[in-house]
This record gives sequence, C-alpha cells and structure tokens, in this order.
Amino acid sequence: MSADRIPLLDLSIQHREVRAEIEAEIAKIVDGNHFILGPRGKAFEEEAAAYLGVKHGIGLANGTDALLLALRALNVGPGDEVILPAFTFVSTAEVVVHVGATPVYADIDPDTYCVADVKPTAKTKAILPVHLFGHPADMDRLEKLGIPLIEDGAQSFGAIHKGKKTMSFGRIACTSFFPSKNLGCWGDGGMCFTNDDALAKDLRVLRNHGWEKKYFPYRVAYNSRLDEVQAAVLRPKLRKLDAWTDDRIAAAKRYDEMLKGVVGTPKVAPGMKHVYHMYMIRTPKRDAVAEALAKAGVDSAVYYPSTIPGTDAFRQKGSWPVAETMARELLAIPVFPGITPAQQERVVRAIQAAVS
Ligand SMILES: *Cc1c(COP(=O)(O)O)cnc(C)c1O
Repeated sequence: MSADRIPLLDLSIQHREVRAEIEAEIAKIVDGNHFILGPRGKAFEEEAAAYLGVKHGIGLANGTDALLLALRALNVGPGDEVILPAFTFVSTAEVVVHVGATPVYADIDPDTYCVADVKPTAKTKAILPVHLFGHPADMDRLEKLGIPLIEDGAQSFGAIHKGKKTMSFGRIACTSFFPSKNLGCWGDGGMCFTNDDALAKDLRVLRNHGWEKKYFPYRVAYNSRLDEVQAAVLRPKLRKLDAWTDDRIAAAKRYDEMLKGVVGTPKVAPGMKHVYHMYMIRTPKRDAVAEALAKAGVDSAVYYPSTIPGTDAFRQKGSWPVAETMARELLAIPVFPGITPAQQERVVRAIQAAVS
C-alpha cells in the first residue's frame, strides 16, 4: 500500500496489537494436529456468547451459512414467507431462496437504513432484520409483532440496543467473521447465537453432517464449521473489540463535526450504540464525490449499488423508495481503529471540493 493512499479499512493497526499472540497460538495448532472442532473453537464460542449475553454460540464456516442454518433450524421452507430489508448484503436474501421460502422485501428507515416497513401476513414464518452498517434495527417494534426474529448481525458485533447487545434478541442471531467485519478473522468464519438449548443442539448437528454419532446422520445437513486457526485469531481480537469500537466511534464523531452541512452523515437513534462498521455519507452527488476521493488517493465504496429486488437474480416488481434512494446516494468513506485526524481531514477536504 502506498504511503499516502487512505484505504477504506486498514487492518495493520489491529494486527500490530495481536499478531504475535495469534502466531504463537497457530504454531501450537500446527504442532497439535487438531484443526477442526477443537478446544479453541469451543472456548471462542463460549467467550463470544458471554460477550453478547447469550447462552449458546455455534461456530460456523461463514456468515451466510449462519443465516442458512438458522432458517433450517427454524424449519423455514416452501410456502413460508420471510420478511427482510430490500437494502442489505445479498446473503440475507440468498439463504431465503435456498430453503425454498419466499423473500418479502420491506423498505428501510431513512435515518437508520434498517428495516422499517414490515407488514407480516399469515404466511410470515420469520423476520430477518439486519443491523446495517453497525446501527441496531428497531428491535422493540419488531419484537411486538410476535414472529420469530433471525438477526443478521454480520455488521454489528458490539452494537447495543437500549442496554442490550444486538444478537441477543432473536430466536437465533447470526454473524460473520469475514476479515473486513468489525470482528474479523484471517479467512472465512461465522457464528449462530441462541438462548434455546434445543435450537443450539440442532445447529450443532446441522453444521456437522447431521450426526451426533459419527457416520450415523439422522438428518441431511451440511459441513460448516469454524476452524481452530480462525478461533485462535478471533479470541484475542474479541478482547480488544470494545477499545477498537471506541476508536471507530471517536473517528465517526470527528467526521460528524467536519461534514456538518456538507453531506448527510449517519444518524443514531436514541438509546443505540452504533459501531460504525461503515461510515456512510449521503449525497445526490455520490458518484462525483467517489471520483474526487479516488483522485485524492482516498478509497470509498458503494454499499449497495442496488436494492436486492432490483438485481437480476432476485428481481421482484415493486417499489421500495427509501432503499432505491439510498442505493443512489450512499457512500462509505474510510473508518477504522487507528485512522488519524489528519487522514480524516484529507477525506473531508476532497468531499468538500466535490460538493461545492
Ligand atoms: C458479510 C455479511 C453477510 C455474510 O457473511 P459471510 O461471512 O461473508 O458469508 C451476511 N449479511 C450481512 C449483512 C453481511 O454484511
């Protein structure tokens, strides 16, 4: 990376703090010959669940599988409808289609970008709220609907909804440890969380070929496990997560100040802790701003350039006006633990020049 380019996410600052510890642990895994479903994975499941205040954590191969296995564990299938936001990462939708259920897309809130316009029917088997960009979805309103909730917390590890961590609300909650997430590993990883003992057992069977007694599957299942190396990466990173989140929040506050009146900045609903997985600016001149940033050596990214039902694979007729507007106007700018005020000033100057 060139010295002056400002990346969207710079992991090197995190790695400096934990790398030696992780590498020593990985050497022990190699010497011990035990890579899958071992003691580190189990310890990390317990530590992650305790961090969220949930009874069970089930380590999985990635966050998409976490969503898929959650739907399977709740027996969601053909004839069922699942409500999810029209504006999210594609995984949230693809798993609904994979289990044979019908995705029903709801529009989003113009302030939090989380699912808002939820209208359940008799066929609604589950609702899949996404804590998008690190801001909690409105769980109070969703819980009142009395329909099983599957939280997609892939972007919200550490976020708090009125005193309770996200991913401690749903029947099942799902997260991803993809390297760029707030809690990321050195490859793919994911986890389901639940307070329900029977669901936890189902999820453990679903991730490991459908058996408890080896080679005697009692249901058709999957191979989806978090491996020991990834658990060894995640354990020390979880211990640092709150400090790193504080750093993201401090950087976000600086942007809020510097960008006031320049572009739209993220809003935080009362009682919520936003963990700024992404810092999204909003402007009708989005593409011009992105171009100006690129010229100034600053990375930015469009999340997401289309609604889900506006893509070829998931096409549905309908109108989701807020989601459609955000697909045109939102841009992610660099935010990460360790970003400096000087770097942020450079980002802001390029944005100012582009919109004025
Ligand atoms: C990253 C992400 C996922 C999927 O996680 P993977 O580990 O990449 O499979 C699901 N939902 C959302 C909202 C995400 O951001």
